[in-house]
Amino acid sequence: MSDPTSDPTSDPTSDGARCPKVSKCPLYPRFSLKGALQIWQDRYCNSPTQHQRCERYIRSNAGEAVPPTLLPNGEHLGT
Ligand code: SF4
Repeated sequence: MSDPTSDPTSDPTSDGARCPKVSKCPLYPRFSLKGALQIWQDRYCNSPTQHQRCERYIRSNAGEAVPPTLLPNGEHLGT
């Protein structure tokens, strides 16, 4: 029986499918506010294979600053 807590790459907030940062990412709840933005959740945040391509995810994992308006595709959210 494998113990997920013994795996240093395991993120307890991840369900193995969605991006493990959804609970911490400031943009995730903003995506929920506007219907037009939910496409980001569908394309990136909630995808088991695409959230790794999110520019926010990549920068965060690299220890870089993540601008609050940075979108998963590297563009910026208009205010
Ligand atoms: S925007 Fe990127 S970092 Fe934030 S929850 Fe979605 S996939 Fe994860």
